[in-house]
Parts: sequence; structure tokens; C-alpha cells
Amino acid sequence: MTFSSVKNKQRLSDSVQRIKPSGIRRFFDLASTMDNVISLGVGEPDFVTPWNVREASINSMERGHTAYTANAGLLELRQEISKYMKQRFQVSYQPEGEVLVTVGASEGIDLAVRAIVNPGDEVIVVEPSFVSYAPIVSLAGGVPVPIGTKKENDFKLTPSQLEEAITARTKAIILCFPNNPTGATMTENELKEIAYLVEKHDLLVLSDEIYAELSYDEPHYSFPRCEGMWDRTILISGFSKAFAMTGWRLGFICGPEDIVSAMLKIHQYTMMCASTLAQHGAIEALQNGQEDVSRMVTSYRQRRNYLVKAFDEIGLPCHFPGGAFYAFPDISPTGMNAEEFAEQLLVEEQVAVVPGDVFGEGGETHIRCSYATSLDSLRTAIERMGAFLERHKIN
Ligand code: PMP
Repeated sequence: MTFSSVKNKQRLSDSVQRIKPSGIRRFFDLASTMDNVISLGVGEPDFVTPWNVREASINSMERGHTAYTANAGLLELRQEISKYMKQRFQVSYQPEGEVLVTVGASEGIDLAVRAIVNPGDEVIVVEPSFVSYAPIVSLAGGVPVPIGTKKENDFKLTPSQLEEAITARTKAIILCFPNNPTGATMTENELKEIAYLVEKHDLLVLSDEIYAELSYDEPHYSFPRCEGMWDRTILISGFSKAFAMTGWRLGFICGPEDIVSAMLKIHQYTMMCASTLAQHGAIEALQNGQEDVSRMVTSYRQRRNYLVKAFDEIGLPCHFPGGAFYAFPDISPTGMNAEEFAEQLLVEEQVAVVPGDVFGEGGETHIRCSYATSLDSLRTAIERMGAFLERHKIN
């Protein structure tokens, strides 16, 4: 008898077989084989983490802080997070019990979903959106229910769209404003209309506010500030975007104690704790990083203003994004679909963008262009895209 009979068993779980790999990857694999590519593809800052933050982390290692921290994260870091969230976004969370330090916002999303979703529960995902939400819901046994926001509504979620998607099985809704990939933001009043429905239908909310600092026109209004929403919201955030710390893999969540302690239970078995040296850097980022954040925000705002106007001038209509670092122009005037447009643009002009359909409903005739890259690169990208559009005759 040989061991090959083991192969008759299905090796992979049903849930992992149901999800598709991220659609973003294919373009980067293609781009990495080409020379002279300008990438508007990646969703991460082009800034290096400010020196004082790197130095604080190096110093912590020199002092020998190389062991695990508390499962929920260093108390000092949680205290800083609590202070920061209060001062910056007017939301109050106790460092002990209501704040959890995670391995990126990514882990926060996964923990939040796993802590609240039972098999068959529906979770509304407001799309176009960050690519992880729907697969994470599926992996947890839930059913992602997409709502496609629309360009004519500035990619905001409307109350009527939400009300239509809610069923007796709806458990939660995932919101992300400022949004990846559209850059859309929502005002206090618009969020309050959503909050009314959340209360009426007894839902929970995962509010991914990782781009909160990158709000260029209006101050960010944090969802748990809406009346009645503190107790229903898991607020997800992190250091990757505003503090230019993507590679540090550090995020945090804030929420009511019962949900946070459930999330902590999963986190302590799956992660133990987030990286100790990253946590030491993050303390410095929160204590002394606000000026650097403002400097980067000023630069992103300038790039946004340039890019959206330039798209207009070369004939690509683009919604004006209030936050994050993405523009989401409409490529329907070219008659191509988003995948064709992105692939041909890369092959013919060596500009990498992401086709909007990978972000779900509502993204089909758009491309995501990240402006977390230098103004010089943006100018060259626009020249090349202009030439591309000339050749492909906009009608
Ligand atoms: N949420 C959104 C909306 C994002 O765009 C990203 C990163 N692209 C994340 C979460 C994940 O961030 P992190 O690096 O903190 O895991």
C-alpha cells in the first residue's frame, strides 16, 4: 500500500477554494517584467517612515526590548492611541479593554469579522472597496452583500441603497471613508443618515478609518461619533498610511469592551502580539509625528489637485476625491473596459494603474491611480496617458 491514497482526500478547504486571489497582483507581476514603468498602482506612501520613528525603534532594540508585549499591545502605546483618537478625532476609548494593537489594519478587519459573524450572516460591503473585505467575510462563513456606490453620488453610500440591501440576515456593514479606491469621503450629516438605519435595523458597523488623516478639504468625522454608534462600531485604523509605515505591519482597533475582548481572544491565539519593535516606533509616531503627517498631507493634497485637473484636461472625467491618495477616473469614453485599458496602457505606455473592477461593484468603468508618488512621476504619467488617449481616440 502506498501513501498516494491520501491524495484522494480534498486537500483544500471549501472556503479557501471559493475565494479568488487579489486582482491587483496580476498587474504588478506584469509590470515587474518591464523597464521604465511609472506605477500609479500601489496603495502605499512614497515617503520613508520619518527618522525619529525609525530611531525610536532602533533604540528599543538597543535597550533589549525584544520579547513579546502584552497580547493587546504595549500599555504605553494603547494609552497614546487613546489620547490620539480623542484629540484628533473626538472619540473616547479606554486603553485597557477598548483598544487592541493589531498586525496592520488588515488583522483588525479579519478579527472584527471573525468576532461577530456566524455562518450565513450577511455583511454589507460598500463597494468599490479595499479588496480584503468580501474574502474575509466569506472565509468567516459569512455572506458578503455588495452595494455599488455610484459616480453620480460622488461614490458616497446613500441611505436608500443601504435600506434596499438590508435583510433579516444582515449582521453588519463595512464602511470605509475616506475610501480606497475612490477617495470618497462622507460628511457628518451623511453619516448620521446611515447611523439612523444602522440603529433601526440593529446592525453592527466596521468602520475602516485608516485614511482619516488624509482628508484634504473637510476634517474627518469619525463614525462612532454619530449618536448611538459608539456601542455598535468597531473602528479600524493603523499606521501604514498617515505615518508612512506600511512595512511595519502595525494597526489598531477601538471598540466596545465585549467585542474587543472577543477579538483579543482570537488575536492571542493567532498572533500573540504585534511586533514589539514596531510598537516602540509607533509610540514615537504618536507622540511626535503630527508635523510629519501634516507635511505629507500637504504634499498629497498638492498632487491630488494637479492630477484631477490633468485628467480633466486629457479627457478623462474624474470625481474629485476628498481623501486617501487615489483618483478614480472614468474610462468609459474610451469604449474599453477597465482591464483592457489597464493592460494596454501598461504595455503601450508603461504606466501601471489598477482596473476598477477588482474593487467590486461600481468600479467597472474606472481605473485606480495612486498619487502617492512624486509630482514629476505624475507629470510623466499624464503625458504618457495623454498620448495613449490620443491614439485610442476618445469619442
Ligand atoms: N484598509 C484599507 C482601506 C486599505 O487601503 C488598506 C491598505 N491598502 C488596509 C486597510 C490595510 O492596511 P494595513 O497595512 O494597516 O494592513
